[in-house]
Amino acid sequence: MVEVDLKGRGISDSAVLDAMGRVPRHEFVDIQYRELAYADHALPIEENQTISQPYIVALMTQSAHLLAGDRVLEIGTGSGYQAAVLAEIVKEVYSIEIVEALAEQAALKLRQLGYDNVKVRHGDGYQGWQGAAPFDVILITAAAPEIPQPLIDQLKVGGRIVMPLGDHRMYQDLILLTKEKSGLKREFITGVVFVPMTGEIRK
Ligand code: SAH
Repeated sequence: MVEVDLKGRGISDSAVLDAMGRVPRHEFVDIQYRELAYADHALPIEENQTISQPYIVALMTQSAHLLAGDRVLEIGTGSGYQAAVLAEIVKEVYSIEIVEALAEQAALKLRQLGYDNVKVRHGDGYQGWQGAAPFDVILITAAAPEIPQPLIDQLKVGGRIVMPLGDHRMYQDLILLTKEKSGLKREFITGVVFVPMTGEIRK
């Protein structure tokens, strides 16, 4: 997976490649999909949600330009896989999941695998995690029609947000936002398909 699907498609950040080589993805997928765990596909998890395709996890992680000392917030814990990849690279990971059963399962799995630097919380990620802010990086792993203002507020100056932006179910723009003193700089990364962000953003 690392050689063909990641390096072969242009992922070059060695910290990201090493992290993805270390995280046991099969532990985060349903037992019936174990054989497909290292193929470059998104896979179903419980509650009609998905664990993202490895290449997209790698691309989002690389695009965030992580540093070892960073404090990172993830919106959409899902299986916990992306959180584990982040935890291999940075000091502290905070992850919020709106479906309680998924939050509990992911927290358990991350604890079993020894990812002590990840904190998982059940809730709506729209409001971020005020008690742990400010963050160096925020990854949103569900498609949002706009950038939640509380997340911009909880980002350090110089900090980055990587997220799928858009309201279409089958296509969104994966973008990198950098918070500069003068405002947000926005860069297009690629087209993606994520499950929709739910909760307050839809109101
Ligand atoms: N990062 C995950 C995949 C995410 S799938 C992984 O590595 O497995 C998107 C997840 O976002 C789903 O689990 C969904 O329930 C969650 N989600 C959707 N809207 C949310 C919100 N407002 N706050 C927190 N989580 C949300």
